[in-house]
Amino acid sequence: MRWFDKRYHSLNFELRKIFNEKIFKLSLDGGFTCPNRDGKIGFNGCIFCSDSGSGEYASDRILSIDKQIEDQINLLSNKWPNGKYIAYFQNFTNTYADVDILRKKYEAAINCDSVVGIAIATRPDCLDDDVIQLISELSKKTYLWIEIGLQTIHDGSAEFLRRGYPFSLFKEKVKKLRSYNINVVTHLILGIPNETKDMIFESISKVSSMDIQGVKLHLLHIIKGTDLEKYYNSTKFELLEKEEYIHLICDILERLNPNITIHRLTGDGSRDTLVEPWWSLDKRSVLNGIDKELSIRDSYQGKYYL
Ligand code: SF4
Repeated sequence: MRWFDKRYHSLNFELRKIFNEKIFKLSLDGGFTCPNRDGKIGFNGCIFCSDSGSGEYASDRILSIDKQIEDQINLLSNKWPNGKYIAYFQNFTNTYADVDILRKKYEAAINCDSVVGIAIATRPDCLDDDVIQLISELSKKTYLWIEIGLQTIHDGSAEFLRRGYPFSLFKEKVKKLRSYNINVVTHLILGIPNETKDMIFESISKVSSMDIQGVKLHLLHIIKGTDLEKYYNSTKFELLEKEEYIHLICDILERLNPNITIHRLTGDGSRDTLVEPWWSLDKRSVLNGIDKELSIRDSYQGKYYL
């Protein structure tokens, strides 16, 4: 099994299949907050979440959506003069506002030249019916996916992460989104303290069996200033080593439904804010290691998917 030169179903493969060319993502800050931070659900947020709402590379939130898009396209235009883009509402909870406000922000992105789709990161407890109706309407006009930070199917681990909603709610909202044919991408975190390999495989198996179109696999990053940093400093819990992570990713890919697109295979930490694991900054070497290990195993995504 191959998806172009990869042994996994890469996002690059999927987007080229749809648009017939390479598509880039623009990380936007929609100016939202999060119910897990503003007191509706909690004040402290997820234990790993940074001040920027887990979106280290997004544009400046004081700028309008069109201006953020224009600035980012200008930066990329030297290298990719006629590039096409997905506008990615990345940090905080991008459906946490009145639908009229959401509509204005999403439409501002969709109406920009060169933008061929949007991606919206959110939480299942911020997907009320009126929001899903709006997303459904927009998904008929442009390519669209919703990203949900599940991180794990295990409610005990989710409690440690302070995720603030049960797995049952995730399942309910995925079902609802899919009833409108809206694409769903889910985030999973690898390296959560006290999660065994078997528990991770259970998350993979569950996600594989659901009607989900994409996954983002993240290595647990310890970011400066987060409660996870304090927890790490006091417990020095065991972190995944590079080789261990590469092997784990290959084990996961072998078990994952091959129809699910891989949006990410590692974290994307910033040198300025990352505490550990420091090796993860060399992303290219991690990705090359995964390719090499799959090749050594003569393996591919879905090899052991039942
Ligand atoms: S849901 Fe997202 S933005 Fe909110 S606290 Fe958790 S990681 Fe941060």
